[in-house]
Amino acid sequence: MADEEPGGAERMEVSTELPQTPQLLASWWDQQVDFYTTFLHYLAQLVPEIYSAEMDPDLEKQEESIQMSIFTPLEWYLFGEDPDICLEKLKHSGAFQLCGKVFKSGETTYSCRDCAIDPTCVLCMDCFQNSVHKNHRYKMHTSTGGGFCDCGDTEAWKTGPFCVSHEPGRAGTTKENLRCPLNEEVIAQARKIFPSVVKYIVEMTIWEEEKELPPELQIREKNERYYCVLFNDEHHSYDHVIYSLQRALDCELAEAQLHTTAIDKEGRRAVKAGAFAACQEAKEDIKSHSENVSQHPLHVEVLHSDVMAHQKFALRLGSWMNKIMSYSSDFRQIFCQACLREEPGSENPCLISRLMLWDAKLYKGARKILHELIFSSFFMEMEYKKFFAMEFVKYYKQLQKEYISDDHDRSISVTALSVQMFTVPTLARHLIEEQNVISVITETLLEVLPEYLDRNNKFNFQGYSQDKLGRVYAVICDLKYILISKPTAWTERLRMQFLEGFRSFLKILTCMQGMEEIRRQVGQHIEVDPDWEAAIAIQMQLKNILLMFQEWCACDEELLLVAYKECHKAVMRCSTSFISSSKTVVQLCGHTLETKSYRVSEDLVSIHLPLSRTLAGLHVRLSRLGAVSRLHEFVPFEDFQVEVLVEYPLRCLVLVAQVVAEMWRRNGLSLISQVFYYQDVKCREEMYDKDIIMLQIGASLMDPNKFLLLVLQRYELADAFNKTISTKDQDLIKQYNTLIEEMLQVLIYIVGERYVPGVGNVTKEEVTMREIIHLLCIEPMPHSAIAKNLPENENNETGLENVINKVATFKKPGVSGHGVYELKDESLKDFNMYFYHYSKTQHSKAEHMQKKRRKQENKDEALPPPPPPEFCPAFSKVVNLLNCDIMMYILRTIFERAIDTDSNLWTEGMLQMAFHILALGLLEEKQQLQKAPEEEVTFDFYHKASRLGSSAMNAQNIQMLLEKLKGIPQLEGQKDMITWILQMFDTVKRLREKSCLIVATTSGSESIKNDEITHDKEKAERKRKAEAARLHRQKIMAQMSALQKNFIETHKLMYDSTSEMSGKEDSIMEEESTPAVSDYSRIALGPKRGPTVTEKEVLTCILCQEEQEVKIENNAMVLSACVQKSTALTQNRGKPIELSGEIVDPLFMDPDLAYGTYTGSCGHVMHAVCWQKYFEAVQLSSQQRIHVDLFDLESGEYLCPLCKSLCNTVIPIIPLQPQRISSENTEAVGQLLTLEQWIQTVLARISGYNMKHARGENPTIPVLFDQGMGDSTFEFHSILNFGVQSSIKYSNSIKEMVILFATTIYRIGLKVPPDETDPRIPMMTWSTCAFTIQAIENLLGDEGKPLFGALQNRQHNGLKALMQFAIAQKITCPQVLIQKHLIRLLSVVLPNLKSEDTPCLLSIDLFHVLVGAVLAFPSLYWEDTVDLQPSSISSSYTHLYLFHLITMAHMLQILLTIDTELPLAQVQEESEEARSASSFLAEVSQYTNGCIGCGVPGWYLWASLKNGITPYLRCAALFFHYLLGITPPEELLTNSAEGEYGALCSYLSLPTNLFLLFQEYWDTVRPLLQRWCADPALLNCLKQKSTVIRYPRKRNSLIELPDDYSCLLNQASHFRCPRSADDERKHPVLCLFCGAILCSQNICCQEIVNGEEVGACIFHALHCGAGVCIFLKIRECRVVLVEGKARGCAYPAPYLDEYGETDPGLKRGNPLHLSRERYRKLHLVWQQHCIIEEIARSQETNQMLFGFNWQLL
Ligand SMILES: [Zn+2]
Ligand SMILES: [Zn+2]
Ligand SMILES: [Zn+2]
Ligand SMILES: [Zn+2]
Ligand SMILES: [Zn+2]
Ligand SMILES: [Zn+2]
Ligand SMILES: [Zn+2]
Repeated sequence: MADEEPGGAERMEVSTELPQTPQLLASWWDQQVDFYTTFLHYLAQLVPEIYSAEMDPDLEKQEESIQMSIFTPLEWYLFGEDPDICLEKLKHSGAFQLCGKVFKSGETTYSCRDCAIDPTCVLCMDCFQNSVHKNHRYKMHTSTGGGFCDCGDTEAWKTGPFCVSHEPGRAGTTKENLRCPLNEEVIAQARKIFPSVVKYIVEMTIWEEEKELPPELQIREKNERYYCVLFNDEHHSYDHVIYSLQRALDCELAEAQLHTTAIDKEGRRAVKAGAFAACQEAKEDIKSHSENVSQHPLHVEVLHSDVMAHQKFALRLGSWMNKIMSYSSDFRQIFCQACLREEPGSENPCLISRLMLWDAKLYKGARKILHELIFSSFFMEMEYKKFFAMEFVKYYKQLQKEYISDDHDRSISVTALSVQMFTVPTLARHLIEEQNVISVITETLLEVLPEYLDRNNKFNFQGYSQDKLGRVYAVICDLKYILISKPTAWTERLRMQFLEGFRSFLKILTCMQGMEEIRRQVGQHIEVDPDWEAAIAIQMQLKNILLMFQEWCACDEELLLVAYKECHKAVMRCSTSFISSSKTVVQLCGHTLETKSYRVSEDLVSIHLPLSRTLAGLHVRLSRLGAVSRLHEFVPFEDFQVEVLVEYPLRCLVLVAQVVAEMWRRNGLSLISQVFYYQDVKCREEMYDKDIIMLQIGASLMDPNKFLLLVLQRYELADAFNKTISTKDQDLIKQYNTLIEEMLQVLIYIVGERYVPGVGNVTKEEVTMREIIHLLCIEPMPHSAIAKNLPENENNETGLENVINKVATFKKPGVSGHGVYELKDESLKDFNMYFYHYSKTQHSKAEHMQKKRRKQENKDEALPPPPPPEFCPAFSKVVNLLNCDIMMYILRTIFERAIDTDSNLWTEGMLQMAFHILALGLLEEKQQLQKAPEEEVTFDFYHKASRLGSSAMNAQNIQMLLEKLKGIPQLEGQKDMITWILQMFDTVKRLREKSCLIVATTSGSESIKNDEITHDKEKAERKRKAEAARLHRQKIMAQMSALQKNFIETHKLMYDSTSEMSGKEDSIMEEESTPAVSDYSRIALGPKRGPTVTEKEVLTCILCQEEQEVKIENNAMVLSACVQKSTALTQNRGKPIELSGEIVDPLFMDPDLAYGTYTGSCGHVMHAVCWQKYFEAVQLSSQQRIHVDLFDLESGEYLCPLCKSLCNTVIPIIPLQPQRISSENTEAVGQLLTLEQWIQTVLARISGYNMKHARGENPTIPVLFDQGMGDSTFEFHSILNFGVQSSIKYSNSIKEMVILFATTIYRIGLKVPPDETDPRIPMMTWSTCAFTIQAIENLLGDEGKPLFGALQNRQHNGLKALMQFAIAQKITCPQVLIQKHLIRLLSVVLPNLKSEDTPCLLSIDLFHVLVGAVLAFPSLYWEDTVDLQPSSISSSYTHLYLFHLITMAHMLQILLTIDTELPLAQVQEESEEARSASSFLAEVSQYTNGCIGCGVPGWYLWASLKNGITPYLRCAALFFHYLLGITPPEELLTNSAEGEYGALCSYLSLPTNLFLLFQEYWDTVRPLLQRWCADPALLNCLKQKSTVIRYPRKRNSLIELPDDYSCLLNQASHFRCPRSADDERKHPVLCLFCGAILCSQNICCQEIVNGEEVGACIFHALHCGAGVCIFLKIRECRVVLVEGKARGCAYPAPYLDEYGETDPGLKRGNPLHLSRERYRKLHLVWQQHCIIEEIARSQETNQMLFGFNWQLL
């Protein structure tokens, strides 16, 4: 451009002259003759101005001015009227038929296995959801970015190419609109404007001068403003760039980070502004700081500010163009025309090509915009896509070369666009016909690969660069794309060009044929393992391409024959060295072979033979077409040279055999890996399989004896089959034996393997079926395992689904594991022990399985080959191998050696193979005899095998040898097979005789009879043996289970923790309880209280295995336990949490139970001493370890020594103190101690304390606000009148453990450092008791289990220990302190006692109050001088009254918060309870000034109350049971919801009509009711209807998930990070507790917590789950469990495909559906508080995941 108009356009002096409004400007432009010049001139004035602030731009303002002063005028100019109106009109014209949405990296794409032409055809989420494919067999995948949606492309889909929104002529679009959306004037304007715009964009984008602008843009006074611009590259790390910037620019870390992030995202950024010299200096600085020995310096340039501004604007103009083009097809076409126009008289390529060619030089941000421009123009218009493709192919070589030397990802290279063009069938055909694209690609390969060629012109990838070669694979991939859809119609030109391409492709194969040759290492081991991965990787890349070439060639006979000829020529050219080598002669039983002298063990050999294998593939296809007979027209017989063709594949197989025989062990692992891949499913189709086919070709065309001699010679076994051999060298014998086995196997394959269409008469389905059968003969397998073991075609299909149900049945998975396929019985007959795709281990596993199965079915153990399918005519001669002399000789030799006691040149495996070959021969003869008359059957295996040899060597025939073998005791295992073969001999004999009609029938039938008799005898014998074996097994089983019982008995504890107990009778505690227990009262509270059931408890320490009785005076035994914060019961998820509990007062629990402290135990018991030793030992060993620990020793964490659960403390085990009250005493007390009296006694005691303390020490105790009792009968000591006893004396060891555990609860519950003297320690003890009970009660209810009967042992033992600990806990702190807490608790429910801070009734959880009050109450008995505690009688009354008072309070809570807005549909009869309820509420409503409605029917009140109070009653029952040890009523042990309520009331001494409580205590309670109801705080609470807690509390569950996983993906696709606009590489993560979607693993959403950076998920978990949370990573379909800041683990997602398998990472991409059972299981993991346990366990077993930085999740 610059040279065209030197000096630029004449400078228009006055910019002020320019019209001011867009409209005027547009019309002014209209008057100018040359738009381009005018336009440039205009831009030259404005652009540098607008983009002047490069370093710190005000983006909004920038955008506004561009819009106002450039785009709006342009649009006016284009449309000639108000563009907004015009664009609005165009928008509705529905000009689009293609979706064309460009995928961002990480976005989900969909493909349809039923309808997509190839797997590269994909849909975006929206189109997929609106398409028919939603109900097809679709696949989901995660885009790597760069592709685009194929919706609307009729060539991409067999059916359903349009989604609903892209369907042509859908509602709202009329045909006329589609046809002519634009009028002529607009089109004319577009033709005027677009070329200028395109030209400007291209010129500026490829502008290279750093300091100067093109002359036409230089109209302003040039300023002295430059930028130092840093470019992105892929080899400097993020941190390195930051470091370099910080050093060079002397800037803050934050600024350097900002720059680096922007560079990474955009590709370039100005990091410094200023004069040229300053920028130049900065540039040098950055370069020198970023350079080191291993790295180039960063790419930095100094650009003039005007250049920078124009380049920036050019891209912005591109985006504008994108927008405009989206409105009309005409616009797109005009744009494309402008891009394609070649400047007359110029050598330059057209604009779009110049842009393409510049691509590798551009930075990331620019490339993205330009590629989008191509997508939205060329790729939306089929015709222009073709033109673009042609330009692309024209410069293909150059583009690929530049890509290969570029360092950017392929996804942002223009070469990645190839898939969009090459996979379109019509385009591919056009490109082949017109531009010979196959040759272009292969020649590109030939030009980029020479650096890997050695002096023989073969590839050698030693010391290759993985990155660079990886880029070459992209070219290979293009070849695949071009070939992916086979043309349906062939033109002459297409045929020619294809053959041309094929020839060119053969050149590449020629360089691979025989590459990387190796020689056996003898003596010393090789020093360095050579690189092998590159060559194998290329083989893998090429596999499907080779198959596709063969398929294309097979399209018609002519083409195939020509291709065959070319390929044959190429093979021959590569075999010249062999043809010219010297000769040797082999001789065996009268047959002679002259062959080249070559030894695999001495000469060079290569595993890479793509040419030979391609030829084998073509040969098979020729056979399929039935055209082998015409082969000689193209390859004359004399040139064919089958021995040469066979030679190299045979060598390769021999190499494999020698590797197995360990002859190559000095050649290192590299060779072993190659041999592995040679036979592996990823490569075998174009390696191993084809070599077998080539040998089959050889066998079908050569004389069988000569062929076998050649095989013997190449296996270096000719000597081994000469009788002369006698060696004592065991190693050599072993080597010989292995080689013979390997050779026999290959011979079996050559003769027996016919499951290739073209080799045998089979279909593709039959081939796949056979593969599956053999896989399932090993074991039942999940779908994915089968799929992994089957070869994939170019469409990633294995054909598995089409046939699997014919041969196997699907077995659904349970709650864990996966579904598996099991082989159907009728398919078992197809089992072939020597299936050629079995690995050694698969072979023996399958053999073992099948023998076992036959044994179980009482069948013989013979596993003869199944009858093989017939060979195709071209291969029919292969069977002659079986009955040729050499084969007979080989078999006989093996059998003779087996009989000969002196010989050890045989193995049982070898015998088995020989039997297999025999069986194949007999089967073949039988089949032939059945099909044709005897005289026509020339296959005479039977005769040869039963003929006596003339020489001494042949003195015995094979049949006789078999009889002998049968008698050898060591070969017992082969007996059944031998029997089978002998019978087969007979069958064939009879077939021969029958058709001859000569032999006397008698002898025949006799022999059959004899046979049958022996057969029956054998059968009977076998049966007898089987029966004996069965009895023996039974006996052993009985012994075993007795032993096992014993073991379980002795190790009971161990088992208890893992198995749920079925009923309480199993538990240790109840073990010795007498059945007489039913005689006792089953009431826990009040005068009728039943006896405590206690028994001697002897526990075994899991560490020292010693037993000890649990006694309070003994050394402590402890239970491993874990204390954790929990939100499992919260009614207010996400409630802000105090991150530090320094000032929290935990006495009263909020009724929303937002954050509780849960104590769980795995139920394992240790001596306290043993545990301490264990813990110290762990500490010590961790200090010595280097790696990060799984658990935090600092905070007391350890893994349970037995079950590896994560624990952080221990609970001391304290025995229950037996308490029994005599009924006489009780009654007497009962007379005196009414509720009224009890209250007064308690108040007197409290006030007594108060007076005592008022004298000095402690004024903070709340005061009685009303002393008005006056009655002096209640004095300070009267509480003691009802009975006291002395306190329990615990051993010091127990005390120590009590303190330790109590401190842990406090520390974790409040997240504070440990402090043994903190006054809140007792509160936390009570709190965790209450919360743990509530959590367990909730879980039992959730699972519909009975309250007592279904507790897991660990829960049972944990609760028991926890309650007993809670009783003992009081002894470890001052009683005054507990009294203080008690008085605050009592102030809630005692009249006349209220302290300042008593919360209102609606803002406390009363169960917590109950637990606290009951546990704290004994402190009232404390006296300075004597240590007293209440007697059993006293406590029984205390418990009763406390419970009754608190229950009444809770009733009021429930009734006040009843949801009266629910529809009251069902009307019930008025019961007594209902009437009580009505009248009670009427009363209460007075106290609340009518604040609660009284219009609610009584029955509804009663029903709600009963429903609401049940959880509380259940919790209370659990609490008192574990506190007192009183047996609960039968109804609570079994699952009877019916009787539960009654039983609860009876156990807890409540009337079933709970309102009777109020009646009974009316006088006492009324003032309380008044006080509660009049509380202004309560009235306030009631008004806030939304936040008030109702009862029963709602049960938490994980959020509802959609059944179809793609719904979730859809949801995630709409997710936008709240913090950043850039939506690439987002990891949306779903919180399963609350449903929030978070932006995970991203800097934008990190938060700082206590000075540490944490990811969005970890931060969310702190609030949502008190640090513990369950997330679903949506794009990966993975569940993760996290705990705290640094721990987490993966967990299987609850989504399964139709095969019952999960799909982490969406690797397989099958449709996924929610498994309710698994989701339920996950829910239980949460509710059982087992998340931490799961994490610890998974980290124990899977240390690999540990490298993940959970903190940044
Ligand atoms: Zn789409
Ligand atoms: Zn669509
Ligand atoms: Zn479909
Ligand atoms: Zn111990
Ligand atoms: Zn354990
Ligand atoms: Zn959440
Ligand atoms: Zn974010």
